[in-house]
Amino acid sequence: MAITVKTLGRPQAESSYVRATLKGMALTFKHLFARKWTMQYPEQTSDADWTLSKRWRGTHRMAVDETGKAKCVACGLCPQICPANCIKLVAGEDEKGNRYPLVYEIDEFRCVFCGYCQEVCPEEAIHVGVDYENAEYSRDGFVYDLARLMKQPHEVSTLWDPSDPKGE
Ligand code: SF4
Ligand code: SF4
Repeated sequence: MAITVKTLGRPQAESSYVRATLKGMALTFKHLFARKWTMQYPEQTSDADWTLSKRWRGTHRMAVDETGKAKCVACGLCPQICPANCIKLVAGEDEKGNRYPLVYEIDEFRCVFCGYCQEVCPEEAIHVGVDYENAEYSRDGFVYDLARLMKQPHEVSTLWDPSDPKGE
């Protein structure tokens, strides 16, 4: 559709704003009888029309191995690449020299959901997830520790795939 520009001249004489006011009120009045689209969320939730894309980048999730342990090997890449500096990692080492996270936390409030942590992780351990319902009453509530990250039940994001740019 072609874009048209309508140039409005400045009024040369004194003008009344009554007509414009009445027009505005008529528009408001018209909307009183229009169909309402308000949804009482979260009591009412959406149907399939609002299904999130599999590439949605939301609340994180830590993958676990077959024994139920976090897949993270505390390599330090994700806190290094994180542009929001919202990942806290304290690495530990077991008697065999295997590294694991003693502390692993993500502040979902500071996170910008870029997905870099997922892209960089060599173990496919940390993922952004297909989830957005993570509201909290305090800022502390947005800090997810390892146990909480491991418990997240939602799907993990497929991120953007150059071979499938439309996500089909
Ligand atoms: S999604 Fe981006 S901002 Fe959020 S924790 Fe991962 S790297 Fe940091
Ligand atoms: S990049 Fe992966 S393995 Fe490395 S510290 Fe982060 S979650 Fe752990």
